Amino acid sequence: METETQDVFWTQICSSFREEEGEAVFKNWIAPLIVDTIEVGVLRILAPTAFMRDWVDSHYRDTLMRVARKKKPTIVALDIVVGPAHRFDAKLQTEKMEKAFSKEVSATEEAADALTLGLDPRFTFENFVVGKPNELAYAAALRVAESNSVPFNPLFLYGGVGLGKTHLMHAIAWYIKENRPDREVIYLSAEKFMYQFIRALRHKDTMSFKEKFRSVDVLMIDDVQFISGKDSTQEEFFHTFNALIDQKKQIILSADKSPSDLSGIEERMRSRLGWGLVADIHPTTYELRLGILQAKAEKLSTEVPKEVLDFLAHKIGSNIRELEGALNRVVAHSTLVGRSINIEMTTEVLRDLIRSNERRISIEEIQNKVVEHFDIKLSDLLSSKRSIDIARPRQIAMYLSKALTTCSLPEIGRKFGGKDHTTVMHAVKRVEAIKKDNSAFSEDVDMLKRVLQV
Ligand code: ADP
Ligand code: MG
Repeated sequence: METETQDVFWTQICSSFREEEGEAVFKNWIAPLIVDTIEVGVLRILAPTAFMRDWVDSHYRDTLMRVARKKKPTIVALDIVVGPAHRFDAKLQTEKMEKAFSKEVSATEEAADALTLGLDPRFTFENFVVGKPNELAYAAALRVAESNSVPFNPLFLYGGVGLGKTHLMHAIAWYIKENRPDREVIYLSAEKFMYQFIRALRHKDTMSFKEKFRSVDVLMIDDVQFISGKDSTQEEFFHTFNALIDQKKQIILSADKSPSDLSGIEERMRSRLGWGLVADIHPTTYELRLGILQAKAEKLSTEVPKEVLDFLAHKIGSNIRELEGALNRVVAHSTLVGRSINIEMTTEVLRDLIRSNERRISIEEIQNKVVEHFDIKLSDLLSSKRSIDIARPRQIAMYLSKALTTCSLPEIGRKFGGKDHTTVMHAVKRVEAIKKDNSAFSEDVDMLKRVLQV
């Protein structure tokens, strides 16, 4: 089905559902969903979390099916699956954009105000937990916020998704709003920036567009990687950017890559983006994750046991947004079904999330690490040599392959130069036995295991 007709159909389903179940239920459970596809009689819907999927599935499946079939009797099945996060980010963006622009009035003052709408009140410096991975970005952001001059221009923050770029930008905006209300700050996503620009083009009003941006003191544009590719917008961005830099206005940009790695952006632009301070946010460490969880947990009315926080910090290594989401899901689940929070319940509620966070370690990685550790040749490790200084590392590598991958014994054997699965089994047993009565050996093996797991 075409996306457009699909959307129309989904809107119809939504309004029937709303009539049957009421506004509150609709808002909480159905509005956040996304219709993915309608094909061969199957309506496929995406839910943002597994918890939500389960809830909708067990409570509203029947209603959804009924209203869907009323509109389209060919529908025979309903699939509710947990959708990719980027789809939901995009949905949120669009909704925010629509909201911001539905409020936008042509008067410049109000328009400027609409630009700063959407600052998240939780994204302040006070709520930002500082650790090794983000200390540089934090210090730079604070410096820019406190400074009356322009310490570095532009400040370019970059790092992977969910590591705190937007949080820091909002924090700067809040800080300036509070301490220097006379300074005009504009924060907007690159998408919004483009949207505005294209709108101005359509209304043949690029003059006021330029004015709007050129009258600010601090301009923040989030996720500039999205500007790449769109030529005219890029051009406009570049002009505005240069004009502001010349006027000594502070510019703060964020992206998921460093300026030199941004693709689809003109060379002159790229080099200019790196003129000021480029601060990257590194992937989180266990300590930072735990710190963030503790800070979040303190604000909750529900008690979350220390070992559960610890467990989450260990298991969810991807990004902070996901980490927060995990904590919220556990708390929401506990409140809704009245179950106390412990590791067992957490494992259950977050099963899919934990699984997707488990890093896949390959047998090759294990072999390389073992070879490096024992200072032997890879070809020897894969050979049939039986001397103890080769055979023992080989056994350890097989043992680690069994422990850290989901490969079967025959598969492991094959990757070790075509050994039999009984050889692998023997190796695993042998290592387990030696581990039991030789603590130095045991520590050595465990250390290798830990190194491979990070
Ligand atoms: P990004 O823009 O880099 O994708 P965000 O700034 O949106 O990431 O951060 C994702 C979530 O993680 C937000 O809810 C934010 O408040 C939280 N977060 C990120 N870094 C920190 C931190 N250092 N301390 C507390 N919360 C953080
Ligand atoms: Mg962001």
